[in-house]
Amino acid sequence: MTGPAAGAPTRLPEPVERFLARGHGLWIDGRWETPAAARTLPVLNPADGSTLAHVALAEAADVDRAVASSRRAFDEGTWTRVPPAERSRCLERLADLLEEHEDTLAVLDTLDNGMPLAQSRGEVRSSAAHLRYYAGWATKIHGETIPVREAGRFFVYTRREPVGVVAAITAWNFPLDNATWKLGAPLAAGDCVILKPAEETPLSALYLAQLSREAGFPPGVLNVITGLGEEAGAALSEHPRVDKIAFTGSTETGRKIVAASAGNLKRVTLELGGKSAVILLDDVAVEEVAPSVLHGVFHNAGQVCSALSRVLVQRRRYRPFTERVAELASRIRVGPGLDPDTQMGPLVSETQLHRVLGYIDAGRREGAHVLCGGTRPGGPLGNGYFVAPTVFGQVDPGMRIAQEEIFGPVLGVVPFDTLDEAVALANATPYGLAAGVWTHDLAAAHRLAANLRSGTVWVNCDNEFDPAVPFGGYRQSGYGRELGAHALEAYTHVKSVWISLAGPGEGSARPANP
Ligand code: NAD
Repeated sequence: MTGPAAGAPTRLPEPVERFLARGHGLWIDGRWETPAAARTLPVLNPADGSTLAHVALAEAADVDRAVASSRRAFDEGTWTRVPPAERSRCLERLADLLEEHEDTLAVLDTLDNGMPLAQSRGEVRSSAAHLRYYAGWATKIHGETIPVREAGRFFVYTRREPVGVVAAITAWNFPLDNATWKLGAPLAAGDCVILKPAEETPLSALYLAQLSREAGFPPGVLNVITGLGEEAGAALSEHPRVDKIAFTGSTETGRKIVAASAGNLKRVTLELGGKSAVILLDDVAVEEVAPSVLHGVFHNAGQVCSALSRVLVQRRRYRPFTERVAELASRIRVGPGLDPDTQMGPLVSETQLHRVLGYIDAGRREGAHVLCGGTRPGGPLGNGYFVAPTVFGQVDPGMRIAQEEIFGPVLGVVPFDTLDEAVALANATPYGLAAGVWTHDLAAAHRLAANLRSGTVWVNCDNEFDPAVPFGGYRQSGYGRELGAHALEAYTHVKSVWISLAGPGEGSARPANP
């Protein structure tokens, strides 16, 4: 039985109460601004549907103001002329502040997104680690010298320069991580950033905005605006004075952003959805993998772009594995994220709840078997957006639940016989974000890692991340990479400079009639 966790504390920490109770504007040019139309949006607690706060709804005129501020900060060199070591110090200070405010930020993300508090604490720490990693890069971004034809005639070098004004549009599943993943590299490189968090989970980004002032970022270097995707997000995507969009979200929205960006051919990087598979070879015992498989799909209630939501099991282990995983899944304690007993929180919104329940119905209709879950827990959880951890057996690879991203706590198990068949099944969706392999056979692991068409492969582990390791998608999971040195490429131009060593005189002159 999926048991509800015991109960959340009734009083929130005082800084959280204070933050929720105050008005929330748009963070533009280092101060809080009122949106042009003074419209607001309620922010809901997914654990019980109650209203946590109201945030400002930015529209096109507000986006113009934010872009003008960032443009000014970039074009006047407010940030690019700051010595790299000072840019590094600002990022370090912001990381320090995140850590100092961990209690508040973690509770805000748990209230807003629903995730268990231990998880949102981890999110704050990984966000700080991310900023520290890129603080290190701020002093190490440089070009190269290139030997060219006719030695001694030319000196050629490259410069790495920031791309300019970056609009970062993020999803709701890891509110603070998604935001900081889009701040470290550009701020280290000298770009100015406008962050637009998801409308479902704007609170930690607003809190971060005020910390950025304390960290020493000059006005306009980091603006934070809240608003709807189809208004503020769309206005940023098509804005002629924005140089780059860094996007995390659905494949469908990614397509719209690419289309909207065409006007000024702005740069775009896309971190999109996935339908990641984990392959279990039969040399691995069920008990060796079951807990990790559960983590791979039920972590953050399955609202993880790299959720390993399809488990491909070599046939000999199929039955014992499905039985054991269903048994363990049914024991996961579901409840509000603030309850210390909770292992899995609610889905982020009512929309997401109905989307996930719709997929569960589709799975049933198409003939898959629900081995556990498939329902909303009732009782004290009845007002929240909870879905019990769900495991499907008898899943045909062509079914919608095996092809489409559910973004919820739903696992489908599919049997296979040979490695080639496993690779073909794993690669048989439009996505390519991540994949997992469990085996003791090193040769099989390498063979699978080479043949899986995804941006990340985890062997005998799942959902491991580090600021130094690039992350991104193949195919419809997006393009560009976040994290690591590779992310810097997306936020910098490479300029080539040719210097004639003969000077402007005769030695370098072209003939009059070339
Ligand atoms: P979404 O695409 O609906 O929204 C994401 C962001 O885009 C939000 O800030 C939203 O306001 C904005 N937006 C919506 N419409 C827009 C438009 N027309 N123009 C510009 N911006 C617009 O996605 P979601 O439902 O919030 O997030 C879930 C999706 O995000 C899943 O598909 C998941 O896989 C993906 N995701 C991917 C990664 C990754 O790193 N690959 C990480 C987290 C989430």
